[in-house]
Amino acid sequence: MFSSVATKRPLVAVIGTTGVGKSRVAIDVALACNGEVINADAMQVYRGLDTITNKVTDEEMKGVPHHLMGFKEPGEESFVTEWLTMALETIESIHKRNKLPIVVGGTSYWLQNLLFPNRIVTETNSAISKTRAKPDPQLQVALDHLDDDSLALFNNLPERPPTAGDDSEQTMRLWKLLDALDPEMAGRWHWKDSRKVLRNLEIIAEKGQKASEVIKGQDKDPLESRYRTMVLWPFSEDDILYPRLDKRVDQMIKSGLLEEIKTLQKISSNHGDSTSTSVDYSSGIYQSIGFKEFHDYLSSPSEEAFSVSVESMKRATQKYAKYQTKWIRSKFLPLAQAAPDTHTYVLDTSNADQWGLIEENAITLTNSFLNNTPLPPPSNITPLADRLLLSSTLSKPSAALSLQRKIPCKLCSTDPSDPFLVNEAEWNEHLNTKGHQRMVKSLKNREQYMEYLRRKELGSHGSQNTGTMGSNADMV
Ligand SMILES: [Zn+2]
Repeated sequence: MFSSVATKRPLVAVIGTTGVGKSRVAIDVALACNGEVINADAMQVYRGLDTITNKVTDEEMKGVPHHLMGFKEPGEESFVTEWLTMALETIESIHKRNKLPIVVGGTSYWLQNLLFPNRIVTETNSAISKTRAKPDPQLQVALDHLDDDSLALFNNLPERPPTAGDDSEQTMRLWKLLDALDPEMAGRWHWKDSRKVLRNLEIIAEKGQKASEVIKGQDKDPLESRYRTMVLWPFSEDDILYPRLDKRVDQMIKSGLLEEIKTLQKISSNHGDSTSTSVDYSSGIYQSIGFKEFHDYLSSPSEEAFSVSVESMKRATQKYAKYQTKWIRSKFLPLAQAAPDTHTYVLDTSNADQWGLIEENAITLTNSFLNNTPLPPPSNITPLADRLLLSSTLSKPSAALSLQRKIPCKLCSTDPSDPFLVNEAEWNEHLNTKGHQRMVKSLKNREQYMEYLRRKELGSHGSQNTGTMGSNADMV
């Protein structure tokens, strides 16, 4: 009997946060197992700017070919679909040469799209095919109810998401369009989150179906894997990783980070139109940590501004690492652990002095994987595996629909056209935030004042019962 193992080609994926030694693991495995590296880091697809994007040096590559690195101009957007198309071609050509493709990157959702082809990731910014499918009856009903302006907008979606700061009207129009077509999806996004809103509208246009229905449809398809895959996850404990990341920031500054940021500032001022009030720090290369953080220092340099910038870059780097780990554990791992022909191992890189052992583990595992010999339980490699791997469970794709639902806080919304939105899951936390408490307090003050006015009124006009306070009760 042929198993899928016999027909699928092998692939190694190295995932993990910034600063845990992913590139080093990949290069070690490539040298030992005749491999070539493919970059899956959204920042390293940009040309130049090697320091701010943390690219490996030629020396560190040790002659191992690295693909899909530095192929985009800074200032351009990078899209998952573009990367995916190129990655598939590159992997095919590596397989044809009888070599092992090793995909390495911190952009886990790119890897998800590559490894698990029938689970589309709807939450990310990417251009999808511009073809449009005929709307299904359910969507057609929603389209028939649109006014002419909204229909025209749907038939001619913008190329790129507007920013709420520069074009709040268009941003709101897009959200309202999504709300009209697919309220279940619209309820998940802040109206200012134009990337996700536009991405959902693109999916609706492309599939001819509500995006939420597309996701529900995925529940019926069993999870597939495109390759026979070995996932290696180098991991370092926070108390070791964070000081290491801090040190790396200091090193980056010594290696010319500020010059790169100045270059990037020039690029952004050439690309941005003059009406734009601010750089979009959430798009393309401008998301690189350091660019935003050093803005104030570079506009008016002082010793104090410098140390503030360094500190905020260090904090942002740690925050990013935390975010990456959370993504891996909550989104990537449940897929990797449920997918067929996919094996996941944690490599403990907390002690980088013992790299020999890390390297040996990575190579032994990959060799067993390639030779189809039995693989050890992940906890034999490191006890960390028990903590990091065993807790994840795969929920149905549609379960994501009930996550991140937003509720407006009436009390914190000062402008009705710009409602203050809170994640449903964080509602109780929100009630305890300083901002919300301040609003509660000012409401109480206002109530007391109204009460005072009312009493005064009552005093002068006799018994008059007003119920004005009742309407605010649901706000708290
Ligand atoms: Zn509030």
